[in-house]
Amino acid sequence: MEEKGTVSRNFIEQIIDKDLEEGKYESICTRFPPEPNGYLHIGHAKSILLNYGLAKKYGGKFNLRFDDTNPTKEKTEFVDSILADVRWLGADFEDRLYFASNYFEQMYEAAVLLIKKGKAFVCDLTADEIREYRGTLTEPGKESPYRNRSVEENLELFENMKNGMYEDGAKVLRAKIDMASPNINMRDPVIYRVAHMTHHNTGDKWCIYPMYDFAHPIEDAIEGVTHSICTLEFEDHRPLYDWVVREVGYEHPPKQIEFAKLYLTNVVTGKRYIKKLVEQGIVDGWDDPRLVTIAALKRRGFTPESIQMFVDLCGISKSQSSVDYAMLEYCIREDLKLKRPRMMAVLDPVKLVIDNYPDDQIEYLDVEMNLENPELGMRKVPFGRELYIDHEDFMENPPKKYFRLFPGNEVRLMGAYFVKCVSFEKDETGKVTEIHCTYDPETKCGSGFTGRKVKGTIHWVAAKTAVRAQVRLYENIIDEEKGVYNEDGSLNLNPNSLTVLDDCLLEPALADAKAYDSFQFVRQGYFCVDAKDSKEGAPVFNRIVSLKSSFKLPKAEG
Ligand code: ATP
Ligand code: MG
Repeated sequence: MEEKGTVSRNFIEQIIDKDLEEGKYESICTRFPPEPNGYLHIGHAKSILLNYGLAKKYGGKFNLRFDDTNPTKEKTEFVDSILADVRWLGADFEDRLYFASNYFEQMYEAAVLLIKKGKAFVCDLTADEIREYRGTLTEPGKESPYRNRSVEENLELFENMKNGMYEDGAKVLRAKIDMASPNINMRDPVIYRVAHMTHHNTGDKWCIYPMYDFAHPIEDAIEGVTHSICTLEFEDHRPLYDWVVREVGYEHPPKQIEFAKLYLTNVVTGKRYIKKLVEQGIVDGWDDPRLVTIAALKRRGFTPESIQMFVDLCGISKSQSSVDYAMLEYCIREDLKLKRPRMMAVLDPVKLVIDNYPDDQIEYLDVEMNLENPELGMRKVPFGRELYIDHEDFMENPPKKYFRLFPGNEVRLMGAYFVKCVSFEKDETGKVTEIHCTYDPETKCGSGFTGRKVKGTIHWVAAKTAVRAQVRLYENIIDEEKGVYNEDGSLNLNPNSLTVLDDCLLEPALADAKAYDSFQFVRQGYFCVDAKDSKEGAPVFNRIVSLKSSFKLPKAEG
């Protein structure tokens, strides 16, 4: 993020600037409040980096708080994955890891306080009746017949609720606000419900649980959060947020600020949908490299830096829109371009024999790791009489402007010599099985040869030393042409979202690659060692992204 005063501030920064100027807060505190009911995705990454980034920029604090007030869905697997993801993104919460369920006592006390103030009551209406009484956008609601219970009666009934005297749903505690409010959220919202469920943290201690709209502001206030940043769907809940912090009487009330969710075109981000894909076995877990969970992006080979760049490019806004997935791809290319070595890998191998090269000779050629970044240095690449090249780099009858290998044509083998195709062999299906060439020793790369030029350069690996590996290519899991959903509401899956290539041949240096190491494979894209399926000496590579892109960076504003 830019530090200079000349850079225009986004609307959240403008709010913070003003609050600090007016002395409303001395310093700021933000938080990321995930519900541990699934893995985090790229949208959450935006929220994490936004909250963390603001705290860092203003010298404030950033908390990680699990919003685990709902006992039904939470799982420790999700808590662990969320912690790992937040740490991987680099959002440092220091020692401020909190669980909302640790505040149940304070929430209960806050509810009792509201009852004592005459601002909350126990209601016996059923969920359906409450809905009926609520009214509509155009009609006011009706007051509950239980609304005017005495403080004493409410205190007693609420305590009974807490002590397990009622069945689930038999009674609720409601805030007493205004059944005629134009904002439906203010029409005596339910703030506590009875639920006889075991909670992952508090066990069976509680059989009443607070509702989100009541719990969240209290969590923020307890932690001293100043700016509680959430997504737009909570905008209409803000008056209730403010009501809760005011009525409970917090001295430095936090302030809720909403921004638009991040959506990616043709990409499934909602936890609900990702969960469906996982549960139906359509993908290989929450970290399947085709997903945009943070765990999947990490496994695919994205870096925290690339995600930060992406989030910065997206910016912060109040209006809903979708960002093209290609922008995320742009960011990872930009990040890896200079950082990673450019290696040779043949994904669809065909043998190439150099007839005039000594039979048993292996020559170690010096090749730059990355032509654009000399700091990465050089590596030795073995060269020999028998090589493999990619099938698509040879054609028997090439069209015009095909500058790669074909009978009679000469090309440069990357980092090595010029070779000229003298003959080739085919099998009965017409598939080319072997290509014969001659090489010219004078043309060795780096020798300063200027005698003649060739138009094509192709990559290769030496047969004797090549490493066999599985390479996986990915496309969007959703069929881009047809949109995310079918007419019946099911997801419109792309049958080609995963291609597994089992017989790829790589430079020997790649045999030692470790989980999450990434490389450019020249002309093919960026690839990352799969952390789940690779074995010692037998890496499996995920293609992170191809090299070409139609994506153009939007012009900077202003
Ligand atoms: P989903 O809608 O994917 O199920 P959620 O909103 O239910 O996600 P929570 O765990 O409740 O997930 O969200 C934690 C935080 O992340 C919230 O502050 C929420 O506003 C924010 N968040 C969730 N999705 C996005 C998104 N697409 N873009 C930006 N922030 C998001
Ligand atoms: Mg949620």
